[in-house]
This record gives sequence, C-alpha cells and structure tokens, in this order.
Amino acid sequence: MSIESIVKNDLCTGCGVCISEDESKQAKMIWDENGFLVPQLGVNSTQDKMLKVCPFAKQQKNEDELGELFFKNNSQNYHEKLGYYSNLYVGYAKQFRETSSSGGVATYIFKKLLKEKIVDQLFIVKEKNGEYLYQFYSDFEDITKISKTRYIPVTMSELFEKIDTLEGKVAVSGVACFIKAIRLKQYYYPGLKEKIPFVVGIICGGLKSKYYTDFLAQSADCFVEYRNAQYRVKNKDSYALDYNFSCIEKNNNKIHMVEMKKLGDMWGTGLFKSNACDFCDDVVTELADISLGDAWINPYDKDGLGNNIIISRSKIAEKIIQQGLDDQDLCLELICEDKIMQSQSGSFNHRHKGLSYRIKMTETITPNKRIRFISSQNFIFNLVQRKRLETRSKSIEVWKKKKDLNFFHIEMKKSLYELAVFTKMNHHFLRLVKLIKGANTK
Ligand SMILES: Cc1cc2nc3c(=O)[nH]c(=O)nc-3n(C[C@H](O)[C@H](O)[C@H](O)COP(=O)(O)OP(=O)(O)OC[C@H]3O[C@@H](n4cnc5c(N)ncnc54)[C@H](O)[C@@H]3O)c2cc1C
Ligand code: SF4
Ligand code: SF4
Repeated sequence: MSIESIVKNDLCTGCGVCISEDESKQAKMIWDENGFLVPQLGVNSTQDKMLKVCPFAKQQKNEDELGELFFKNNSQNYHEKLGYYSNLYVGYAKQFRETSSSGGVATYIFKKLLKEKIVDQLFIVKEKNGEYLYQFYSDFEDITKISKTRYIPVTMSELFEKIDTLEGKVAVSGVACFIKAIRLKQYYYPGLKEKIPFVVGIICGGLKSKYYTDFLAQSADCFVEYRNAQYRVKNKDSYALDYNFSCIEKNNNKIHMVEMKKLGDMWGTGLFKSNACDFCDDVVTELADISLGDAWINPYDKDGLGNNIIISRSKIAEKIIQQGLDDQDLCLELICEDKIMQSQSGSFNHRHKGLSYRIKMTETITPNKRIRFISSQNFIFNLVQRKRLETRSKSIEVWKKKKDLNFFHIEMKKSLYELAVFTKMNHHFLRLVKLIKGANTK
C-alpha cells in the first residue's frame, strides 16, 4: 500500500495529515473529479513517511491498539464496539442547543476548553466567505460561529503545517478517521500529545462528496451559484429528523430551503458517499477524548431542538461534563451502552455487518479491518450491500455527467427502487427469523 494506491483506490477521506510528512514539501491537497479532497503528490514526495500517519494504511496500528495506548489507563469501561470510555450520556447544552446542529454540546465543550485555558486555540470547521473549512479560532465570547454540522469535505492539512510555530495548545474537532490520523501523529511524535491535549470526536455516518451540497441546493430550487449552505436547519416544533437544508444565492441573496424529509433517505442509500467510508469500522470515534453524535432514540428523537449522545473517555472530558452539570449549563442523563448502540444502529449494521461482504466484493485493495467485525451475513443482507455499493458509486458518476437534478433523478430511479425493495425484503426476513427463534424458545 502506498499513498498513491490509497488515493487511486478511493480510500482517502482527505484528512491531509500525510502532507506534513512529505519531506519534499511537494504534496498538497486538491479537489478530485469526484468532489473529494485528496493529496496530490510531487515526484519526490516521501510516501513511506506519509503512510505512517494515514488512517487507511494497512501498515498502521488499528483503533484497538491506539485506543489501548491512549485510553486504557484513563477510562474505567470498555465495550467492543464503543471502545474505552468513562461515562455515557444523552442531553444538551442549554445555551447552545438552539444554535447548534444537535444538542450543542460540541460548542459548549469548545467554549469551556478556551475559557478554562485548557487550550489556547481551536482547530475546527467554520464558515469563511460562504464556504466551510478547518480554521484556527480562539474567541470564546463569539463561540457560536463554530457551531453546526457541515456535510462537505474538509481537510486538516494546515494543522500540522503550522503547529510547530503556533503559540500554546490546540483542541481539534474531527470525524473518526481524522482523529485516528491525529493519534498516529501523536504516537510517532509524543510531544504532540501536550500540544493537542483534547480532541472532540464528531460521530460520523459517512463523508459526502461536495456534489451532495450541489444536489441539495438544486433540490432547494437553487440552480445558480450559492453560498452559506446550512445542512441542519431545525424545526423546533417538530421532531429531530425533520430538518431543512438552506442556501443563499450568491447574486441576489435569495434564500432557498428544502425539507430534507422530502428528499428521501440520504444516508442509508450511500448517495454521494466516499468509498473509503465503506471500509471504516470506527462508528463512534473511539479515539476521541469525547465523542458526540445525535440521539436518534426514543424519546429524544421526538424533540426538534435536538439532543446529543455523549461518550466521555478522558479525565479532561469528564471534568468538563461534571462541571457543566454542577453549573446547570448541561442538561444530561446517564444512559446505557445498548442505548448508544441503538442510536447508531443503522451505522453499526452497515459498517460492521456489511464489512465482510464489501471486502469480498472489492477487487482492489482494502484497509486492514478488525477481525471481530468481519462476519458472514444472510443472502438478502448481502444483496442490500451489493445494491448500496452500486448506488453509491453510480450517484457520483451520474452527477458528474450533467450536474442536473432531473437527469440525476431519472438515472438513479431504478437503483434506488431496487435498493428499497431489497432493504424491505431483508427487514421481512429478519422479522421472520426473529419469530421462528421466538417460537422455538417457547
Ligand atoms: C460528515 C458528518 C457525518 C455525521 N454523521 C452522523 C451520524 O451518522 N450519526 C450521528 O449521531 N451524528 C453524526 N454526525 C454528527 C452530528 O451531525 C453533530 O455534528 C454532532 O451530534 C454534534 O452536534 P452538536 O450540536 O453538539 O454540535 P455543534 O454544537 O453544532 O458543533 C458542531 C461541531 O462540529 C464541527 N464540525 C462541523 N462539520 C464538521 C466536519 N465536516 N468535520 C469535522 N468537524 C465538523 C464544528 O467545528 C463544531 O465544532 C455527523 C457529522 C458530520 C460532520
Ligand atoms: S493521510 Fe489522510 S489525506 Fe493522506 S492519503 Fe491518508 S486519508 Fe488521504
Ligand atoms: S465514515 Fe469513517 S471513514 Fe468515512 S468520513 Fe466518517 S470517520 Fe471517516
């Protein structure tokens, strides 16, 4: 495996950490034809060194090994799918819930990290000139500027390019593969553990191509250049999943909006998703100090303002949470492992159960995955995986052809219909198996 083969086989999610390991300084991040950020190598790029920090390189330590190194001595608990952890919670941050994507706990944690001077800077995803990118930020009085989920490729390449010249400590937010790259970097350069004392894990169901945002904009009747895409405009009088997408026309500032529920299933179908995500077995960002996701579980999903699920792993994380509870800034309840699992059940089903089939079906290279997540499934489940693989790659190919919503709908109709049929068949089959098992145990 080389950086070149990782990129060629669509196994790169664009974290950009490898750029800092190129001794020739020729490598840089660019947009590829599929709407993802990837490294472009120079003739003298030092790929062997770059591979050391790539979360998808076969040669590297996996999440279990890194989890043991970073958290075994700090966290009292371990779960084979959640990793090491101290406590599990559900709830929200009172001050930031309304202006955040979910319960606002990410914004709260970042404010505390700055205010308590645990770090001097944040490296987070934030708007700039109507677009989104990783930036350094340190103004805790104006912290809501960093809030909200952005479903668009971003890269952290600037972090390690600048970190040696940066004053003070930095906290970073990132999805699981990005956090893994940071941990690999800290593993090889232990001084970076002090420099980056805290990472916030954003639980992630998959990286979408930038074409996904164009698709959403056109779905919101915006067929010209736009800015300030908002992926999770809440409807506080409805339920949590009932949110809107919005964007603003660049020329005349007209706001366009579309209800996401009208667009169908954007996540289970794999539309516009990176191929790399089909080989990612870290569902809950196991290597973060704290992992934050959406509480897609009853009764929390009935609340349009949103709730977070929270997995605290490090002492700093637990201290911030406890202080937030004492000060009544956080409104949280402890929950059990099963509830956390349930909140991400779609992701666990796809990422763990479907892994074995996807590895078998892939003719090119795949990353090394943790053996315990590789298990055979029934024939119908595998059919769903096959259709999803097709739907995922076809969605990007079709969009690239015309970048036109109507053409996309026409071309994708059959694949999406077949996927829905197989998915329904699988649900019926599983229900039948459950009934038979129940009858046999009576
Ligand atoms: C690509 C992606 C997929 C996701 N999939 C799931 C999922 O399947 N299940 C689930 O439960 N939750 C998922 N989430 C997380 C969820 O949408 C919320 O971000 C999370 O619950 C935190 O909510 P909050 O209200 O506490 O965050 P806020 O207070 O709104 O703060 C959001 C934080 O996320 C950071 N951020 C925004 N976009 C990105 C990005 N692209 N990469 C890295 N950091 C970013 C911001 O810098 C900010 O710190 C996903 C998020 C992303 C970015
Ligand atoms: S380190 Fe990150 S940017 Fe570099 S190849 Fe690996 S995933 Fe892609
Ligand atoms: S699903 Fe995994 S590989 Fe894909 S972006 Fe999220 S954390 Fe990275």
